[in-house]
This record gives sequence, structure tokens and C-alpha cells, in this order.
Amino acid sequence: MDRRKFLACGLAVPLLLCRRTQAQSPIFTADMHFHSFFADSKYHARPLAQTLAAGNTTLAAWSLVGDLLWFDVKTYKQKSVPKPGEALGWFQRELGRIKEHVAQQKLRIVRAPADVERALRGEPHIVLAVEGAAFIETDARPLKTAYGLGLRHLQLVHYTRNAIGDIQTEPPEHPGLTQLGKQIVRECNRLGILVDLAHCTEAAVIDALAISRAPMVWSHGSVRREPPAAASAAVWRRRQLSLDTAKEIARKGGVVGLWALTVDVGKTPEAYADRMIALAEWLGDDHVAFGTDINGLGPYSVLSGHGDLRRVIEHWQRQGVDDARIRKLAIGNYARVLKDALQPMRA
Ligand SMILES: [Zn+2]
Repeated sequence: MDRRKFLACGLAVPLLLCRRTQAQSPIFTADMHFHSFFADSKYHARPLAQTLAAGNTTLAAWSLVGDLLWFDVKTYKQKSVPKPGEALGWFQRELGRIKEHVAQQKLRIVRAPADVERALRGEPHIVLAVEGAAFIETDARPLKTAYGLGLRHLQLVHYTRNAIGDIQTEPPEHPGLTQLGKQIVRECNRLGILVDLAHCTEAAVIDALAISRAPMVWSHGSVRREPPAAASAAVWRRRQLSLDTAKEIARKGGVVGLWALTVDVGKTPEAYADRMIALAEWLGDDHVAFGTDINGLGPYSVLSGHGDLRRVIEHWQRQGVDDARIRKLAIGNYARVLKDALQPMRA
């Protein structure tokens, strides 16, 4: 029992009663990265509210794939370049559809730190997120529009090249983060949008860390201790982050999310749970969170839905993982970093 809880219980209340109250407080979960697609896809978790409830998931970043129309979803190779305005149009249409679905499901959208607090208390909330800021073409202005529409979590890059920064899966063409990329990070800080570095090259991550005034996340992927993967290596290997860079993200208060890719993390939710603990040993308990990529990984996901996060929690409990540690990994870390980032900063 921590000191605060002890004091809250008061000396006059029998210890047993306090213990029982604590044990009954449910463990809610958060996901820094999941998808849910609409037409022509079976990977649209339905009904969403129910699938989230199955995992006690009360804070989940639904990531709109910002460059979905311009890359081949089998090879992850870019197939075309969006015409001016096209990517913004796609973003606005898709975001509208996502918001409609969220409203139908009677879920709430995170707009301010108080909403994150409500999610921590068990009220399910969706964070509107985008994977790949293709809608930003030559200047940061569309960010303000996106913020107005409810976007609060912005992943700078994905599988297609953009003017923001280099991506892990293609040879670099910029020095890391471009001037525009730096401008976007500053603008996110100013507005109150969480910056997500997933898919960025290590150089782009380091550039972003040097200028961001708020902690950032690497929402999904995994961390390797081995040397960088060769350009010819499998895409998932090139998507891994080096331990040194992951530690830098953590040092700035940020959080790294573990995806549920079977080939990387193992064949059961319990193996995924063990890998989360290993990552927490490397980066510290305050710097690791779920970043499942549910639906994005399709048949290659070890978690079939958010309901499997319960198995992760139960595994930790059986292993005797400390309750406070479980709560940090399960929801506390994403909630903390999101609340920090949502505080708008004056320029
Ligand atoms: Zn991704």
C-alpha cells in the first residue's frame, strides 16, 4: 500500500478493509495505437465500445492512416504521390467517419487533460490520432484545422515519403527531421497535440527530441539491442528502434509502445506481457505502454482484440508484478504523457 492510500484509509479503518478496497479497484488499460477500418476490411473491431470494454480499455488512440491511399498495403512501398489537397481531403473525410462511429458507440473523444482523467477513472475515451501527417504538405497550417477537428495525437511519418522527415523503411533523403518537421513539432507543442515518433529514423527522432518542449511517444514497434537491421531485412526488423534512442525518448519523459506482432513478441498474450516487462526493465517503469496496432497487424497480431489485454494483466498478477507497476504500464504512462502534451504552450 502506498503512503497516500494509507493516509486516505485513515488509521481508524481496519487494514483489511483498505486492502479490499484497493483490490476491487479495476485495472483500466490504454492503447497508444490501434486501427479500425471500414469498408472492405474485416479488421474493423465491432462493435467498438464492446471490444474496448472487453479489455477494460478506457483510453485508446484510434489511428487514421494518413497515407493509406498512396502505398501498397502488402509491400509497404509507396505507389503514388498525393496531388495537392488530396491527403487533407482524405484525412477530413476519414476523420469524419471515425468521429461518427465514435459517437454512435457512445464513446467520448479526448480533447483536454480532464478527459484523460475521466478515462483513468473508467470512462472510455478515444484519442483521435493520425499515422503519417501526409495532410500537411508545405507548411504547418493544416495542423490548426486538424486540432479544431479533434486531433490530439500526431504521428509525423509512416510508409510514404513526406516533407517532414525520414522514415525507417526507406533510404534517408533528409538530414533527419526537416525544417517543416521541426516547425510541426513546435506547433504541436503550442496547440497541445502529442507528437508520435513511430516510423521515424533514429536521426529524425533525435532532432525532434532536441526541440520538443513536451514529452513524446514512440507509439508502436519494439526495441532492439542488436545493431541496426540492413536495408534488405524484413520490414518489421527495420521498424525496430535502437535501445539507445528508446532511452533518449524515455530520458525526455516520453513513452515507448510495444506492438503485438507475433513474429517479434511471441505467440501468446502472455509472451507479449513478458516482453512488456523486459522493455520496462530496459527503459524504466514510467516509459513503456501498450501500442498494440490491433487491426493494423491483421492476422499477424498476437492479440486478437483489446479483450486479450485482460490476459496480459492477469498474467502479470499471477507473476506477482507489483500493482503500481501494472497500472503504470497498463494506462498510467500513456495518460501522463498525453496530459502533458495536451497542455497548450505559449510560443
Ligand atoms: Zn505503424
